[in-house]
Parts: sequence; C-alpha cells; structure tokens
Amino acid sequence: MLVSAGGDLGAAPPPGVAAEAAYAEARARMVREHLVARGITTPRVLEAMGRVPRHEFVPAELRSRAYEDGPLPIGHGQTISQPYIVAFMTEALEPKPTDRVLEIGTGSGYQAAVLSRLVAGVWSIELVEPLARRAAADLKRLGFTRVKARCGDGHLGWPEAAPFDAIIVTCAPEEVPPALVAQLKEGGRMIIPVGSQWGAQELVLLRKTPAGLERKPVLPVRFVPMVKGRR
Ligand code: SAH
Repeated sequence: MLVSAGGDLGAAPPPGVAAEAAYAEARARMVREHLVARGITTPRVLEAMGRVPRHEFVPAELRSRAYEDGPLPIGHGQTISQPYIVAFMTEALEPKPTDRVLEIGTGSGYQAAVLSRLVAGVWSIELVEPLARRAAADLKRLGFTRVKARCGDGHLGWPEAAPFDAIIVTCAPEEVPPALVAQLKEGGRMIIPVGSQWGAQELVLLRKTPAGLERKPVLPVRFVPMVKGRR
C-alpha cells in the first residue's frame, strides 16, 4: 500500500507538467545514448544539450521525435541538424564564456540556443525570411536573449559585430567564404561543412594563427547547401 502524508500525492500532475518531465527524461537519454556514447566529453556542452528544449524548435507534429538522433524537417526544404552533429560542432568550437560567436544558417534557432548558453553572445544569420522570423520569435519566447538574429546572406558575415572568437556555419558552401575568414579573430576557430550539394562534404575546423589559417578535416557530413543570396 502507498503511504502518503497528504491526500493528493498519488494524483497525476497537470498534463503540461507531465509532458515537460517526459521531454526532460528523453533529453537526458539523448545526452547519454547519442552524445556521451559517441564521444562528446566536454561537460559544459553536455550540460547545454541537456537543458535546451529541442522539442520547442521542431514542428508540433514532430515533437515526439525531437530527442531521436536525426535531423528533422523545419519547412522551406530545410532541416534542424541531428543532436550529435550540433554537440560535435559546438565542442569543436571550444566555446568560452567571454566568446562572441557568429552562426550562419539560423534554421530553427536550436544550435544558436545551445551556443548561447556557453558564450557571451551569438549573432545568427538566416537567408530564408520566414525561417529567420520564426527562429527569432522562438528564441525570444524561450528566453534566449543572448542571440541576435537577422535575415541576410551569410556569405557576407556580420561586419558590424565582427571580429568573432568563433564562427559556426550550418549550411555547406563549396569554398570557405573569404568574408567569414576576415571576420574571425586571431586565435579564433571556425567549423564549417565544405563541399558540393551532390558530392562529398567534409566538416572542416579552421584556426586563425599568426602563421596563417590552419585547416583540419574532422568528419564527413551532409548539410543543405549554402545558397548565394539575391542581394
Ligand atoms: N542551425 C540550424 C540548422 C540549419 S539548416 C538549426 O539549429 O536548426 C541550414 C540553414 O542555412 C537553412 O535554414 C538555410 O535556409 C540556411 N542558409 C542557406 N544558405 C544560407 C546563406 N547564404 N545565408 C544564411 N543562411 C543560409
């Protein structure tokens, strides 16, 4: 028999509370089974991945799949990246609490939200206007105030906010855009998928050093192409 001090301890929590608890549990499982198990080790990165509600960044009908380790469609032919890739790219940037970070390809806003828990500020650019608008609204609604989001062509970077300690690109250009290299601080890191839309793409880690740009391929990947803007 259940012994309870109060009369209502056995009552079910309100539906919203129960759902949030189930999402939190699914998120903790995602961190263990898809991130830790596959080699993500940085405690701050794991903590951020364990906190940001990915289900709030996917379409309502796909929420039940938000903590599976796969990309999901977010409309306009675009996708929210797979959690493992988000964690991998975040870890590769070595984010520090004082860092200013530029993101190209806001998409759902999820990657920007994760990063914003780890750094001083995130400047994020999205080419597709309805996506840019929705991500900005979601980030605001969820309290991710350290993200500044705008609509534009990421090839140009965000000159008024440069230079950046780190740059993350979540769509694939065929070559690293020169403006992004120019907007990276010395000592800064950039993680970017490079390659063609149809052929092989490689996630590349760049580091700006006094001796020049170091370039290290780190993982074969498949991202949506980085589209040339019309303006
Ligand atoms: N980081 C996102 C996933 C992005 S998918 C997330 O966490 O959800 C890649 C995004 O890059 C798409 O939304 C696409 O519209 C955008 N994109 C493509 N070309 C771009 C460009 N030239 N400038 C800015 N964004 C671009």
